[in-house]
Amino acid sequence: MIHNHCVNNLAVGNRMSKIYDFLNIRVYRVSSAWKKNRKRRLNYDAGKCQGMIVKNGELTRCLNTIDIQVHHKSYERLGYEFMEDMIVLCRSCHRVEHNRLNKQDKRQLSIDFQEE
Ligand SMILES: [Zn+2]
Ligand SMILES: [Zn+2]
Repeated sequence: MIHNHCVNNLAVGNRMSKIYDFLNIRVYRVSSAWKKNRKRRLNYDAGKCQGMIVKNGELTRCLNTIDIQVHHKSYERLGYEFMEDMIVLCRSCHRVEHNRLNKQDKRQLSIDFQEE
């Protein structure tokens, strides 16, 4: 049996954990651990944007090397990311990706946009 107050508590719990995650991610983003993990992905992608763009009417990998950022595809393993938890994107592709996430209402994944 689920009571109203249980539902309310759940909602508060979810809200709290989102705020907590948000703080964690903000702290993490300036840490040496992130610098290291970020570099790991940058090396893996040879510093090239892995976004997909349409060029001459064809879907092709962007491979831009200017204004490069590392985007989190998942925050599940914050601090010990698997290679596939991150991706190198240029500023433009990064913005496109976050617009897409915002449309899907995946706000939690959408808070790293300013990360360099
Ligand atoms: Zn991002
Ligand atoms: Zn790009």
